[in-house]
Amino acid sequence: MSAAEIPYTTGLHELAPGVHAWLAPDGSWGLSNAGLVSGDGESLLIDTLYDLNLTRTMLAAMAPITAAHPITHALNTHANGDHCYGNECLDPSVTIHAVTETAHEMEHEAPPEVMAALLSPPAAEALGPVLAGWLRRAFGAYEFTDITQRTPDETFDEQRTLTIGGRLVELRNLGPAHTGGDAVAWVPDAGVLFTGDLLFIGGAPIMWEGPVDNWLRACDEMIALSPELIVPGHGPVTDCDGVRAVQGYWRHLREQARQWHAKGLSWMEAALAVDLGEYAELGESERVAPNMYQLYRELDPDLSTVEPLGMLAAMAQWDAARGSRGSNATPPDGANG
Ligand SMILES: [Zn+2]
Repeated sequence: MSAAEIPYTTGLHELAPGVHAWLAPDGSWGLSNAGLVSGDGESLLIDTLYDLNLTRTMLAAMAPITAAHPITHALNTHANGDHCYGNECLDPSVTIHAVTETAHEMEHEAPPEVMAALLSPPAAEALGPVLAGWLRRAFGAYEFTDITQRTPDETFDEQRTLTIGGRLVELRNLGPAHTGGDAVAWVPDAGVLFTGDLLFIGGAPIMWEGPVDNWLRACDEMIALSPELIVPGHGPVTDCDGVRAVQGYWRHLREQARQWHAKGLSWMEAALAVDLGEYAELGESERVAPNMYQLYRELDPDLSTVEPLGMLAAMAQWDAARGSRGSNATPPDGANG
């Protein structure tokens, strides 16, 4: 089966016997994919979703499979909420795995209470219309107020091999890149790779951590596995060409950063002046602001630190200045009740 044969529609798609992708078009802010790998009498879930409604909808769609092969293990590929905020929907007996740094970030960076607070009316007033409006467009469709974060049960640093009902699944940490820990799940007998947010297809990638060389190397490692089908964190099912496209984005942006840095522009001036070239059509283009900041940090270690809220403000400012479509986050049909 080729990637082009997998329709990009909301729901569960079988990629190989006992290997399914949960897809969430259009893959923009918060609309993340997930995976289910089933062996004899048990299953591994790869990522939960951004809120409880979305996660429960996905788990209900998986029920015909998980009735015979219940979820016994889960992986959070990384700490962004759209891959772990739904953890509490899993049965308490499920063992949740994550990279050690991911578990740390889940506890200390952007817990659901922070997202709920940012979207609350008093905060919107304090943040001003540009940032509050952008936050509402990107994240306003999700429900963060009722989430109790469940953190991972078992952590690993580099690699862990799971046996799921007799089936081998390799979990590998290819980060830091997108975040401080970025795990992929490789199902060798099916040739299917689940990458989390090391891959965005159709939307711009975003680098919260870096360095960019590590992201490029992570892409090389994915290609070296020779996967037939690749499930990105966001966007349609792809193959190694999708990995090369993400590498192309980073090489292009790294070159832009070098050029503008040499001309003396600040990182935000460079983000606003950037020529995105063939990548201009990618969704969520405002991610170029934090990306440029991270690339500048690599060029200039003394660059002052910008907190995550400052990154969100930079994206809102970029979107107001250069965004053509803005962001939109519409949950899948029926996902919110
Ligand atoms: Zn994501």
